Amino acid sequence: MKNKTEVSRPWGAHVSTAGGVDKAPERGEKIGASAVQIFTKNNNRWSGPPIDPEKAARFRQESANRQVSTVASHVCYLINLASPDPELLKKSREAFLDEIDRADLLGVPYLVFHPGAHVGSGMDEGIKKVAESLEWAMAARPESPAILTLETTAGQGTGLGHTFGQLARIMDLAGDKERLGVCVDTCHIFAAGYDLLEKKGYNATFKSFDDEIGLDKIKLFHINDSKKPQGSRVDRHEHIGKGYIGKPGFDLLVNDKRFVSTPMVLETPKGPDGREDIENLTVLRKMVK
Ligand SMILES: [Zn+2]
Ligand SMILES: [Zn+2]
Repeated sequence: MKNKTEVSRPWGAHVSTAGGVDKAPERGEKIGASAVQIFTKNNNRWSGPPIDPEKAARFRQESANRQVSTVASHVCYLINLASPDPELLKKSREAFLDEIDRADLLGVPYLVFHPGAHVGSGMDEGIKKVAESLEWAMAARPESPAILTLETTAGQGTGLGHTFGQLARIMDLAGDKERLGVCVDTCHIFAAGYDLLEKKGYNATFKSFDDEIGLDKIKLFHINDSKKPQGSRVDRHEHIGKGYIGKPGFDLLVNDKRFVSTPMVLETPKGPDGREDIENLTVLRKMVK
């Protein structure tokens, strides 16, 4: 376990909620995290049992006691807010509302989701559908404090959100921008073609983000190296420094003054004891100048 001065940055990893959401803070503490991401239910199921209010209360207590804050809840993988199939779209939207309610019950600020896949209906149609879905969800939950956080994607298949311009269009069309944010996944933007390798390319990438969306919209980072080269459009996470982004790219990110208070969570491969998370966080901390 790291002492708290070493974890002053809001850094951590995605942690398991096996056995209940209230187990997440302890798992975060074990890897020396101050920020974690969770699934609030099985990530491959449309619905899950409701969160027991007692567990939710214990979750809040544990988060405070262990000083581990769950900054993000990642929605289940089945949801496609851009689906051209009316049945699947309806199911996706309802499941998305349930995800909002779960995040709100736990007081998790950012609800992270992949924008969706157009499945052959075309990019423009897909973007319109996601925006409509978000508009619908925000109208259905007018009081929800959760920030609906679009994740940048690698651009596999018909997936949306692999350019900052696409995310900007979705957010513009959806309206109420105060309730929307972006999660930048380093592996995904790199696989999508954005440069992170040296200062010039790194700066150009975030300049482009700022021009298209605005840096203030970056609510968190998924901090993953990439098993595949820049522009491959293949989403394969690698341990920090061991992939194609490599240490120089992460060095630029962790020393970027603009992001010192932005949460960063790992989604890199790991075993049940989380040893790999500890190693990756150590590698990142050592880079801080
Ligand atoms: Zn991610
Ligand atoms: Zn990924």
